[in-house]
Amino acid sequence: MSQTEASPKESRPQSQGSELSAELLHEKCTEIARNLWWSWHSEVVNLFRDLDPIRWRQLDHNPIALLAEFTPERLEARAGELVLYSRINQAYRQLKEYLASNQTWGATNAGVLGASPVAYFSAEFGIHESVPIYSGGLGVLSGDHIKSASGLGIPLVAIGLFYDQGYFRQRLDDESYQVEEYQDTLVENLPMEPAVSNDGKPVTVEIDTRDGKLFAKVWLMHVGRINLYLLDCDVEGNKPEDRELTSRLYGGDTRTRIRQELVLGIGGMRVLRACGITPGAYHMNEGHSAFAGLEAIRDFMHVDGLDFDEALREVAHRSVFTTHTPVPAGHDRFDSALIEEHIGPLRESLGISLHQLMGLGRVDPQNENESFCMTVLALKLSRRANAVSSLHGQVSRRMWAHLWPWRVEEEIPIGHITNGIHIPSFLAFQMRQLYDRHLPAGWASRMGESEVWQSIHQIDPGELWETHYALKNLMLTFVRRRVSRQCRRRGESDEAVEAARNVLNPNALTIGFARRFATYKRANLFMWDIERLYELLDDTDRPVQFIFAGKAHPADEPGKRFIQQIDSLRHDPKISGKVVFVEDYDINVGRHLVQGVDVWLNNPRRPLEASGTSGQKVILNGGLNCSVLDGWWAEAYNGMNGFAIGEGRTHASDEVADHRDSEDLYQVLKNQVIPTFYDCDSDGLPRQWITMMMHSIGSLAWRFSAHRMVMDYCRSAYLPAAGGLSCDMTIRVG
Ligand SMILES: *Cc1c(COP(=O)(O)O)cnc(C)c1O
Repeated sequence: MSQTEASPKESRPQSQGSELSAELLHEKCTEIARNLWWSWHSEVVNLFRDLDPIRWRQLDHNPIALLAEFTPERLEARAGELVLYSRINQAYRQLKEYLASNQTWGATNAGVLGASPVAYFSAEFGIHESVPIYSGGLGVLSGDHIKSASGLGIPLVAIGLFYDQGYFRQRLDDESYQVEEYQDTLVENLPMEPAVSNDGKPVTVEIDTRDGKLFAKVWLMHVGRINLYLLDCDVEGNKPEDRELTSRLYGGDTRTRIRQELVLGIGGMRVLRACGITPGAYHMNEGHSAFAGLEAIRDFMHVDGLDFDEALREVAHRSVFTTHTPVPAGHDRFDSALIEEHIGPLRESLGISLHQLMGLGRVDPQNENESFCMTVLALKLSRRANAVSSLHGQVSRRMWAHLWPWRVEEEIPIGHITNGIHIPSFLAFQMRQLYDRHLPAGWASRMGESEVWQSIHQIDPGELWETHYALKNLMLTFVRRRVSRQCRRRGESDEAVEAARNVLNPNALTIGFARRFATYKRANLFMWDIERLYELLDDTDRPVQFIFAGKAHPADEPGKRFIQQIDSLRHDPKISGKVVFVEDYDINVGRHLVQGVDVWLNNPRRPLEASGTSGQKVILNGGLNCSVLDGWWAEAYNGMNGFAIGEGRTHASDEVADHRDSEDLYQVLKNQVIPTFYDCDSDGLPRQWITMMMHSIGSLAWRFSAHRMVMDYCRSAYLPAAGGLSCDMTIRVG
């Protein structure tokens, strides 16, 4: 809303200058900052940024930290200077209306969940860069899931862990080797407060183990209409080592891991009970939280008087399990000693033997040599299970077929719901304005519907291209700033810092690659044959350049070597300035890159990318995907909406796959991507490229949105699990 549209009454407080109005203004801003709803409303983000753009950046875009630096008087002065009153009032009113509204998809379609919401468990939530409790795709997916559940008005509560050091910050040393830095997050700067039970007391939970009790306190974070509960073991009463149990995400050994999962699953269920929440359905996002099912069984036995088998059936009926990992080694496994140490006391109250308990985590319950697998437990405790793309569904059915030895592969009860992204969180402001002008009114609340996107073909090609070009330049400015800062920090010469300020060419075809540096994602595939890379980069008529970002897990040496190989290219005079590595990949870096690249590159070793989501983030911003036909892209690519690397074959060995796929990558770049990008008409517009952008947006935006994904979960999993439908649907298979 612009200044001129505001009534004079709104545009400044009635008693401007009085202490009261200054206080009130500060309170309103703080209230907005304390619901992460602000993070996916660019006009609200811009409002905070405008208060102090430099501090905003330095404070990781954290509005609570920023507001803490403003006294009410200073805030009022600043708001006066920038004429922010109406924007603050507008944002405040919008938030209030959003929270109060019951005109939602969920109110119409998921009313039955109202009194008994979905309980959504995940080990990480990636909501915004200022809340560092995520490491990668799984976390961002969970964050997107709850944001869309909020937008759709689906009754859902979320449960996770609070990691006070989160995941690490990444720096590269002089040898381009990854260095991990852990920082304590200041709790007072996060939008959360202690969760309180119905009697008004702060919630704490305790969990018995053979080795003593484990305690956790509980934080409540507001994500739009969704309550996110985060368990935190840094409490008095815990042993010193247990106080650090939830310090770091995916740190520590197997014992740390099982204890974190104990807190998430069993502790999480106890939080719900303490808060008076009786879920209608449980959704376990990956196997980390599968112990929750055991605690739910205990509840049904003790509260409803069911026996173990009846209680297990009841829990399974209500449980939905999503698997994300297509390799057997990626699933958590624990030996029986660790299981007995941690689940022993619960096992006794369930009245089952250790052998029976272990059987729940084994494919073959009688096989004493099998360890306890969290995925197996989750599959046995859930009537509804799904993979995260169609291809991953096939892989998962094959992988777990031996759990149902009497069924043929097609009948293995693991379906799929393909992942999607929360569009407002990744959509550039300028693109949103373009859509506001050209898409049907109210498009933003109907993003998961295909009809909304069909008018994309009516947009003027020149306007679409210019918007993309402007965004590309903004992204390049960001990358140059980050790269030159890296140079300065490494103590490089003034010339090097200056050169870094001018890396990359705004007119060159710009290819982005950012994700975790897990080796199967093969970040270094583009340099498989260095001579061919030189050829691509050297072409002065049709230049190509690459931007990389990503963290390797601290224990992943091969992943760190990939980073080193890529960042070291800056010393090669033939490459310098044309391939850059941006340190410390997070949601912020990701958002900048997906908003400005021409092409998003994805070349995992098929079929190891269960879905992948980062490529979905470029669609709405006008970028094109160039990807191996794996994960979501295997079902998204239609020949007109992007580029395919290879033909979707799975190769006999890693060596063969890398060899063939790199060959296919160079071929598609040389024969398709580069010629199409540089084929311009007399107006300087790459017509065919722009047509592909439109096909990409029109055919993919709605399908790979988290709104569509959450509606799918609701219809095919949550409602049947909560017993709201008379017909018992299962998640569609294949
Ligand atoms: C979207 C996103 C991911 C997921 O990327 P993939 O390509 O699916 O691996 C990981 N990390 C961050 C910060 C993201 O925003």
